[in-house]
Amino acid sequence: VNDSEDLGSRTVHAACFSRIRTFQPLLRPTFVAQSPAALALIGLSIQDVLSNPLGPEYLSGSRLLPGSEPAAHCYSGHQFGLFAGQLGDGAVMYLGEVETETHGRWEIQVKGAGVTPYSRDGDGRKVLRSSIREFLCSEAMAALGIPSTRAASLVTSDLYVTRDPLNNGRRISERCSVVLRTFLNFLFFYYINDFSGLQGPSAGRHDIRTQLLDYVIENFYPCIQLTHSNRKDRNMAFFREVMNRTANLVAQWQCVGFCHGVLNTDNMSILGLTLDYGPFSFMDRYDPDFVCNASDKRGRYSYQAQSSACHWNLARLAEALGSELKVAEAGAILDEFMPTYQRFYLGTMRKKLGLVRKEEEEDSQLILDLLRLMHNTGADFTNTFRLLSHIPWPEWGDSEQVAVGPVVDLILKQCASIEELKVANKPTMEDGELAMILSMAQTNPVMFGIVADSPGVSEQLVRMGRLKELISTDQDELKEKQRDDWIRWISRYRRRLSRECEGAGDLSLIKEERLTVMNSTNPRVVLRNYIAQNAIQAAERGDFSEVKRVLKVLGNPYSESDASGLSTLVGPCAFKQTVAYD
Ligand code: AMP
Ligand code: MG
Ligand code: MG
Repeated sequence: VNDSEDLGSRTVHAACFSRIRTFQPLLRPTFVAQSPAALALIGLSIQDVLSNPLGPEYLSGSRLLPGSEPAAHCYSGHQFGLFAGQLGDGAVMYLGEVETETHGRWEIQVKGAGVTPYSRDGDGRKVLRSSIREFLCSEAMAALGIPSTRAASLVTSDLYVTRDPLNNGRRISERCSVVLRTFLNFLFFYYINDFSGLQGPSAGRHDIRTQLLDYVIENFYPCIQLTHSNRKDRNMAFFREVMNRTANLVAQWQCVGFCHGVLNTDNMSILGLTLDYGPFSFMDRYDPDFVCNASDKRGRYSYQAQSSACHWNLARLAEALGSELKVAEAGAILDEFMPTYQRFYLGTMRKKLGLVRKEEEEDSQLILDLLRLMHNTGADFTNTFRLLSHIPWPEWGDSEQVAVGPVVDLILKQCASIEELKVANKPTMEDGELAMILSMAQTNPVMFGIVADSPGVSEQLVRMGRLKELISTDQDELKEKQRDDWIRWISRYRRRLSRECEGAGDLSLIKEERLTVMNSTNPRVVLRNYIAQNAIQAAERGDFSEVKRVLKVLGNPYSESDASGLSTLVGPCAFKQTVAYD
């Protein structure tokens, strides 16, 4: 621990933490919402929190909890592929750890409680909108069964800071707000980097790296510690486990259409948790190139790049661990990442399709073709998967068209309409790109919509003398084609379903199992951007009821329905993809 008291931009040598002694209380902190489940982890009930008049002060870092020793993490890391030197947590204060009988030891932090020694030019504050997104998504992830840091409470205040939310040079005044985060441990990959022999202000402090590694393995991987007497073997087992958990995590993200907008090494947890909900998005329309971070111009962290970004980060972790690992073996473990990821991904995708009894070689092609079809028809990721359970089990002698007609209607209904695509237009394009899009538009109604409804693009087409080609495309024909494509895929899927019961088993049990598995793997509700946005807008007007309602609904993402008026969360597929922000 570094004990120096001065705040502001500085480099700290050979320390894991810097103490925080200067407090910057919020002005009139008040609760926006609490998560009962996350509070329970640290031994608190809603009652405890609400009955204490100082509750909002304690849970926002405005008043020191008895026994707490606030500090900020010191770390370095790679941001967008480049080593960024020492960072350190500029907006997060570690308050200490809480041990309960039922839940064990939990670390607690406040995010947005003010300047820390690593804030540099920042003010260490978070505003209401970013805090609501972190609060809701942490708890939504946990309810989906995806490993995540948790958010126990959300406090806002009458203290204001200015921000430029749309990055257009217009700053607005926003309320400072604080999320109380909790999890077993917050250590991330590049925490270790600072002490490696490679880069950073504490480079070469292998003594600290050793301590840190021992601490992590002893406390959070006790089985690995117990089963290895040789230190290097132990470390290899640890690295393999981190690889495994990371591969599993990113596979789970992909399977619910979640995109982490900033997969920098300092946002990767050593325990395989989702960490740091800044720019993130659940996709509405399926698009492998979806990028949810407006500042990620080159799509480094696009939806389809998420697994390779995690792989890259693991390689940086291996480098930072350096001589603690056996080099060749570490390389081999890194090479296992993609196959491991694929295995997790395919395992969950099979469940999403209700293929529970057997695995077939062609399953991955069936899944790939489904995704391609979803992309081409502008299908909503969450809704499409949820609807697949409506596809009837093939019965001997049934007519395909009659049997699947209703579900095709349902699927097509939530696919993009040309109307909705008006919003998704692209103002101008390179000629080459335009030509490519034009040729796609002739077979793909989604592209057709984009091209037809964009004045900029149409003008360009006139200039290129190619508008006629587009106009001659028959839209009704395209719609018909879309329908045929879906029917064709569904037929293949039903033939695959019928092979589930080949060999053994009671058919009615298999059918039931299929539905149970599908409906507990395909969420009915996810935190769509526009849902978060509605809750944010209401909260900014002082009405916190929508935040609370959304939290409650997202607490049961797989349930069929709920008394609290859910339909708005299932939502039409929204093309007004609100830009995600930090
Ligand atoms: P992120 O991209 O969210 O992981 O943040 C990168 C670094 O910037 C982290 O060390 C944060 O703690 C820091 N940071 C983010 N927001 C602020 C802020 N408002 N004031 C000071 N530091 C910040
Ligand atoms: Mg971060
Ligand atoms: Mg962040």
